[in-house]
Amino acid sequence: MTEPEPFVPATGGRFLTIPSLLQRQPWLVFGFSTRAGGVSPPPYNSLNCALHVGDQWQHVLANRRRLAEWAGFTLDDMVCGQQVHQDAIYEVKEDDRGRGSQQEDALPAVDGLYTAQPGLLLTSFYADCVPLYVIDMDRRVVGLAHAGWRGTVLKIGPKLVRRFQEQFNSRPESLCAIIGPAIGACCYEVDDVVIQALKPVVPARFYPAVIKETAKGKYRIDLKGINALLFKLAGLPEQNIIQTRLCTACRPDLFFSYRRDRKKTGRMASFIAIKN
Ligand SMILES: [Zn+2]
Repeated sequence: MTEPEPFVPATGGRFLTIPSLLQRQPWLVFGFSTRAGGVSPPPYNSLNCALHVGDQWQHVLANRRRLAEWAGFTLDDMVCGQQVHQDAIYEVKEDDRGRGSQQEDALPAVDGLYTAQPGLLLTSFYADCVPLYVIDMDRRVVGLAHAGWRGTVLKIGPKLVRRFQEQFNSRPESLCAIIGPAIGACCYEVDDVVIQALKPVVPARFYPAVIKETAKGKYRIDLKGINALLFKLAGLPEQNIIQTRLCTACRPDLFFSYRRDRKKTGRMASFIAIKN
């Protein structure tokens, strides 16, 4: 029997989350937006959360304001990094409140954000890349990382775990890693360049599970599965690693997809915070 899909609509259905985890950790807020419930016209219909994709600034702000409110915050609490497919990780503090939320002052060149401070809504944006969430359930620290294939090769997920361990003395058994909606192995074809980059990161015995050659020099890869594997290799207990099965490219009803929509599309938001 397969496990039920962990990411389901929150109460009110405004975004996806894992209600059973929130029940156990009532101090925690996290989720992933869908494309529904916003104001943007096609091809950004309707809840496009990203500036820089060609949508109108005031639409994006209206969408972000809704999302922040659904999550129990305001737009001024949101903090965003400028995502560059690298592995820089940044600790968000009070001084950063609002950075990147309304204008082009996102934290420069950071793909990983974390905080131990309540009331800051860490947010990053996606249209196929893998959203990673890391939570220390004892120390009450939360983090987000944006992992496309480059971030995966750079092991941004395990690096976030290591940062928690160094700074907060996090124990593996109190850490939870969540792999959110992203393009699945069903739809994600790559070439040799990506495979050669991934091979040093994925132990060979796991190749058959996450890399399938479909034609000469063409492969389907399971980027969510690879990130789950990297968390396991980083020492997290398997039961603390939660992976969605949702594929952004397979679900035009729920998600924007950079590949499916041929680049001109919106972005979903992943978010995580400690309640005030
Ligand atoms: Zn798919």
